[in-house]
Amino acid sequence: MKKRLFLYTIIIISVGFICFFCISVYITHVNNLDNAKKTIIETTRIYSGLYNEETDVDLFVKTNGDTRITVISSDGKVLADSRPIDMNTVENHLNRPEIQAALKDKPETYIRHSDTLGIDLIYYALKVNNPDNNNYVFIRTALPVAKIDSYLFQSLPMLVFLFLIIVIFCFLLVRGVISRIIKPFNSVENKLQSLSSGEYKPEPVIRSYDEINKITQEIDDIALVLQKNFFELRDEKNKLDYILNNITDGLFAVDEKKSIILINSSALDIFNVTMDIIDKNINYMIYNKTLSEAIDACINNSKNSLFELQIKGSIFYVTVKQLSYTKLIMIILSNVTENRENAKRREEFFANASHELKTPLTAIKGFNELTLLNNKDENITKYIESITRETDRMITLIEDMLKLSEIENAKEINPVDVSLDKIAHEIRETVSYTIDEKSIAYEIIGEGTVKAEPEHVYELVKNLVENAVRYNNQNGKVTITIESGRQNICMTVSDNGIGISPEEQTRIFERFYRVEKSRSQRNGGTGLGLSIVKHICALYDWKLSLKSKFGIGTEISVIFSSNNSSNSKPE
Ligand code: ADP
Repeated sequence: MKKRLFLYTIIIISVGFICFFCISVYITHVNNLDNAKKTIIETTRIYSGLYNEETDVDLFVKTNGDTRITVISSDGKVLADSRPIDMNTVENHLNRPEIQAALKDKPETYIRHSDTLGIDLIYYALKVNNPDNNNYVFIRTALPVAKIDSYLFQSLPMLVFLFLIIVIFCFLLVRGVISRIIKPFNSVENKLQSLSSGEYKPEPVIRSYDEINKITQEIDDIALVLQKNFFELRDEKNKLDYILNNITDGLFAVDEKKSIILINSSALDIFNVTMDIIDKNINYMIYNKTLSEAIDACINNSKNSLFELQIKGSIFYVTVKQLSYTKLIMIILSNVTENRENAKRREEFFANASHELKTPLTAIKGFNELTLLNNKDENITKYIESITRETDRMITLIEDMLKLSEIENAKEINPVDVSLDKIAHEIRETVSYTIDEKSIAYEIIGEGTVKAEPEHVYELVKNLVENAVRYNNQNGKVTITIESGRQNICMTVSDNGIGISPEEQTRIFERFYRVEKSRSQRNGGTGLGLSIVKHICALYDWKLSLKSKFGIGTEISVIFSSNNSSNSKPE
C-alpha cells in the first residue's frame, strides 16, 4: 500500500508539474508574441512617421537589429530591404496579406514563412502617403518568430533543472509524509497478521486517527472473541482426537472422491499405514470389492451398510455410514475375531456337555423304569414317577440343546421340497393331547412347499405351534396360515393366547429366556424353542417377525425366501 500510495502521489505531482510547466511555457509564448506584435506595430509606425519623399530608401532600411524593414512601392515592387536580398529576383509583394491589409487601411500582423529569407516572421505593414505626387509606399517591418521565444528557450534548461530539483524535493517530502500517515496502518496490519496466525497479543497501537483507533478497537474485540472460540475449538478437537485415538474400533472417514480425510490410530494399526495416508485415495490403504461397493452405495444412494470383512487374518464387523449433513462417509471396523472364537468355543462346550449329559440321563431313565416294574410300595412309586418326569424334562432339554448346537454348527445342508401344510398336520398329532385338554381349535389355511432339510422345517413349525398351544387359554384358537407369493412363501402361526408384553418381545428369542419360568416348565417348555427357530431362520436367511399384544394373542411369521435351492450353508 505504501509503495502504491507513494508511486501515485509522485505520478500525480509529476503530471501536475509537467502540465504547469507546459501551460507556463505556452502563456509566456503567447505573451511574448503579443509583445512582439505590439513592438512591431510601434516600430512600423515610427518608421512610417520618419519616411518622406526625400528619404533615401537604402539608408532608411539600414538597421543592425533583428527587425527587418522593407519599403514597397504602391505596385508591390520592393524598393529596399534591410536584409540582403536580390532585388532583381525578388517577387512582387502586392499580394502579401499584410500589404493587402495596409492597402485597405486595415493593417494587421501576420505570421508566415518568408520565401525570401526561408524563416517564419511576423509582418506588419502601413501605407505611407506621399501628398506631393499623390503616390504612396508601404513600410513593412518583420520580426523572426524564433526571436520571440529566444529568452524562453534560453531559460529552458534552467527551468528543467529547477523542475527536477522540485520533483526530487517532492519525492522526499511525500515519502516522509506517507510514512507518517502509513505508520498507524502498519500497526493495524501487524495486528491483523498476528490475528490470522493465531498468535494475537493485544498491543497498544500508535494512536493517531480516530478512524484507526476505532478499527483497532474493533480488531481487539473480534480477536478476543476469536481467541476464545479458537481455544474452545482446540479443546474440543483435542478431546475428539483423544477419544478417536483411544477407541479400540478402527475408524476412518472418506469424502465423495474416496480420499481419506480422517483416520484414528486403531485404523492405522489395522491397515499398517501412517498418517501420510491422509488425502490419499482409500485404494492406497485397502482394496476390497465389498468395501468399495458399500462406499459407492453410500456416496451415490446414501445407503448405509453392515458386513463382515477379513483383514490380515482378523474378522471385522464393518459399518459404512454417511455422516448427517455432510458428504463424508464414516467407516467403523470392530474386531470380532475374539468374539467369534469365544462363541465357537461356547458352542463346542454346549454341544459336548449336552452330549455327555444325555448318556447318563438315558441310563438313569432306564434304571428308574426297571425299579418301577419291581416296586410294590406306593410311596416309592410316587418318587420313581417324579424321577421319571424330571429325567424326561432333562432329556428333552438336552435334546433341544443338541438340536440347537447342530443347527449352529451345520456345515452343509441338503435341501429338498418340504410341504409346510403336511408338517403342520403331522404336528397337530404330536400336540393333540394339549389341544384336546384345552379344547383348542386348530386350523391350517393354505399350502406351500419350501426347499430345506425336512428336519429343520419340522423343528421350526413344531416349536411355533407348541408355543401357540402352550401359551393359549382354554377354548383358544391356533391358526397356521400359509401364503404362497411369486417371490416367497409366508407362514404365520397365530394364537389368541396370553400374548407377550412389548418389553419381553425383544428377549424371548434368547436362549433360556422365559417370561414365566414356572408356566413354561409346567407345560414342558425348555426355554430353547424360539432360539432354535431363530437359528434355523438364520441358517436359511429366512425372515422372522413377531407381533403380539399382551392378553390378546401372538402372531409369529416366517418368510421363506425362494432362493433356498442351494446345497451349501448360506454365508
Ligand atoms: P419355552 O420352551 O419356554 O416355550 P421358547 O423359547 O419357545 O421357550 O419361548 C420363550 C418364551 O417366550 C416362553 O417361555 C414364553 O414366555 C414366551 N412365548 C413364546 N411363544 C409364545 C406365545 N405364542 N404366546 C405367549 N408367549 C410365548
